[in-house]
Amino acid sequence: MAGKRNTPPTYCSFCGRPEHQVAHLLHGDGDIAICDGCVERGYEIVHKEQKEKAKPELNLDDIKLPKPHEIKKLLDQYVIGQDDAKKYLSVAVYNHYKRVKQKHEGEDEVELEKSNIILVGETGTGKTLLARTIARMLHVPFAIVDATVLTEAGYVGEDVESILTRLLQAADYNIKAAEKGIVFIDEIDKVARKGDNPSITRDVSGEGVQQAMLKLLEGSIVNVPPQGGRKHPDQKMTAVNTKDILFIAGGAFEGIQKIIARRVNVNSIGYAAQEKRERIDRSNLLQYISPADLRQFGLIPEIVGRLPVLTHLEPLDSAALRRILTEPKNAIVKQYKKLFAMDKVSLEIDDDALDYIVEKAVEHKLGARGLRSICEELMMDAMYELPENEKAKTLRVTKAYAEEKLLKNFEGKVVKAA
Ligand code: ADP
Repeated sequence: MAGKRNTPPTYCSFCGRPEHQVAHLLHGDGDIAICDGCVERGYEIVHKEQKEKAKPELNLDDIKLPKPHEIKKLLDQYVIGQDDAKKYLSVAVYNHYKRVKQKHEGEDEVELEKSNIILVGETGTGKTLLARTIARMLHVPFAIVDATVLTEAGYVGEDVESILTRLLQAADYNIKAAEKGIVFIDEIDKVARKGDNPSITRDVSGEGVQQAMLKLLEGSIVNVPPQGGRKHPDQKMTAVNTKDILFIAGGAFEGIQKIIARRVNVNSIGYAAQEKRERIDRSNLLQYISPADLRQFGLIPEIVGRLPVLTHLEPLDSAALRRILTEPKNAIVKQYKKLFAMDKVSLEIDDDALDYIVEKAVEHKLGARGLRSICEELMMDAMYELPENEKAKTLRVTKAYAEEKLLKNFEGKVVKAA
């Protein structure tokens, strides 16, 4: 028998840590031992390699490419309203993957250009939801990044490449899959150039970031730190080709209405234009948004050029909020019904109680996001009390019940916060 043991080792043969510094020291045959930390690390390495080997390539033929009408119909199941945005998105996504497939088939004569998208609309109107729904539908990796955390390389914040780190993570480090994924860049308006003369003050989180983003958007091979963080010389990089990644940017572009108003006024001077000017719907100027307005707002022309599909989202009115509560496939009310059903409680909410919830969301200017927090406060007492009792029961939420609970749980907080 190899190496008969005299005294068992009192340190890890791999990392050298003494027994008293580790949780477990496993002794092997002979004079060797391994600590729990090294076992775990070893497992991770082996497991990662095995997973790496087992990864199938994302086969483009596996991406089922629905036609624009089908894409729109699918979006309708999850997103209320926003017909314009849905139509633009459906076409852009259809064209994007058609282009990716065409390249795959090697017919390269007419090069189809990338159709990255920019969605402009108030926060909480469904921009992220649209992008997320598309990615889920196509079964491609999807990452959301917030442009506000990005800074020019070398400054405090995240490098632009971290956008791709997120996508790699979402693809479980399957590079081929990540290279066909979708990235949603939120709050792109926050990296708009602040002043007209960017050279006077250094604009590390504005124009610099836009410049850095360009190479990602246009399609190039980018070295990405796979674990994120800052790039440093001894870190192993992963090369990611962005040419088939679809970028969807979104932003509220607060104040852009003024820019649009100015443009449509200037463009419609004179008698002939008088009538046209009168036809302009001033309550919703966003529908007239053009690339020129984005440039005026502070996006550099190159970025605007790399986001050729521009569309807008409508503000959500009471009717839309009311539908959001009950209609989408995973509507908030459906979610609560499911939660309660798990405790054998059948939940019924009266129509006027739903109207009341919407009224509160509008009153406090909380939009669609607020619906969830209002419902949470409304259901809190019931969710706390009802699981106690094992017997099947019904919870009927009347308007009076909603008023009572919201007065107690919700209004108090709003008043305190104000
Ligand atoms: P944005 O990205 O425009 O700021 P989100 O897409 O993140 O807004 O919307 C926030 C939440 O509000 C969503 O998760 C969803 O629950 C709800 N919501 C917003 N707009 C809609 C919509 N048009 N249809 C259905 N739900 C919506």
